[in-house]
Amino acid sequence: MIDLKDLRTNPDKYRRGAANKQVNVGIDALLSLDADLRQAMTRQQELTAEKNQIGKQIGQIAGKLKKAGDNERADLQQQMKQLQQRPAAIKEEEAKLAEQVHQLEQQRDALWLQVPQPADEDVPVGTSADDNVELRTWKSDWFDPAKSFADNKGFEPKSHTELGEALGLFDFERGVKMAGSRSYVLTGDGMRLHNAVLQFAFNFMVQDHGFTPMSVPVLVRDQVMVGTGFFPGGKDQAYEVKETERGGGYDLYLTGTGEVGLMGYHADEILDADSLPRCYTTVSTCFRREAGAAGKDTAGLYRIHQFDKVEQVVICQADEQTSRDWHKKMIGYVEALLQALELPYRLLQCCTGDLGPKNADMIDLETWMPSRESYGETHSASRLYDYQCRRLNMRYKDPESGKNVFCHSLNNTVAASPRILIPILELYQNEDGSITVPTALRPYMGGAERIGG
Ligand code: AMP
Repeated sequence: MIDLKDLRTNPDKYRRGAANKQVNVGIDALLSLDADLRQAMTRQQELTAEKNQIGKQIGQIAGKLKKAGDNERADLQQQMKQLQQRPAAIKEEEAKLAEQVHQLEQQRDALWLQVPQPADEDVPVGTSADDNVELRTWKSDWFDPAKSFADNKGFEPKSHTELGEALGLFDFERGVKMAGSRSYVLTGDGMRLHNAVLQFAFNFMVQDHGFTPMSVPVLVRDQVMVGTGFFPGGKDQAYEVKETERGGGYDLYLTGTGEVGLMGYHADEILDADSLPRCYTTVSTCFRREAGAAGKDTAGLYRIHQFDKVEQVVICQADEQTSRDWHKKMIGYVEALLQALELPYRLLQCCTGDLGPKNADMIDLETWMPSRESYGETHSASRLYDYQCRRLNMRYKDPESGKNVFCHSLNNTVAASPRILIPILELYQNEDGSITVPTALRPYMGGAERIGG
């Protein structure tokens, strides 16, 4: 959620920011509702002041009446009568105003929630992912994406679906039988490898980088989805559990990322400034409807409805440089993880049109996927400033000013599986169809060096 005070003084910044993100939101309508609301609230205050004043005046006249002579009495009684008539009119106006304020507040807040955070000035302006800018690439000692697979490994590659089905690592047929399109079952060593990547990633964040491990709800209330910025815009992407239809007080939603539970955790809290930064990690199942993705990435494990993800979240003090430093660090962790797995990758600076409403900046990490003959997104590192914490009402007391200020927040994938199995299986495949287990994952696979063969 953006700062309304800033919007009032710099509306053009937000008009430009929304246009750059391809978001159509009525900034002028919002400003007009906001002005009407503030006017109505000012009138409410005036009426309260008037009521107090009348109370005082009635008291004074009552005092005077006790001592008044016959000459004054009639005049004072007339004044008293007039004053006593006024509260009924005030009450009527107050009732109308209360309704008006309620309506205006709802309309204003609905629009306010839709205003995207303007991207930082150094984010390139663009309309879609095609305008994203490659920042750098990294290749392993044994695989260079600039060369063909055959030039790297001396044979023609199989896709992860071919490899996995031949080795019994996953079963799409029965997955679809049970849960419909974009569903799968991980079987045997497929499940072990999936588990190994997640455990490796989780330990990497907890043991090597000191992140606090958490297990958070993946079924949450609407207000947590709104607070974390996934609703109202992304409501069609979430699976809804209609508890109200069964007489429950509220509906619940399956989360598409562990970020929701990690950020919702401190909603409506004032954190101790000394406890910042809060660095959290979780491994959670993620559910995505993938609405609007019909016909896109239909084969294999790339775009599915349910997957598991190790996520990192940082909540830090409200300082731009601190946020920027954390963004770099969180990207660095993932680079180190991909390098430990020896998976070639590139960093992409996402353009404004690819950012999503919450982000001031986003860097994607894409890993080389031979079957796609391209890099495929495996990680997304977001910098949000106070946009999310303002919605969540998450603050800390600034020791210098003594004021409560909204925290900054950031998040990044650590490892999302099974998508990350695509580069692992395809890059580590051998000519005989077996898979070499990456050295870093062997401790999590009972020391196994190979799958199949
Ligand atoms: P996001 O939260 O959308 O930035 O996604 C974080 C990561 O989760 C992506 O980089 C992917 O690795 C993974 N991911 C997202 N959506 C899907 C999906 N539908 N199927 C499989 N993996 C996904």
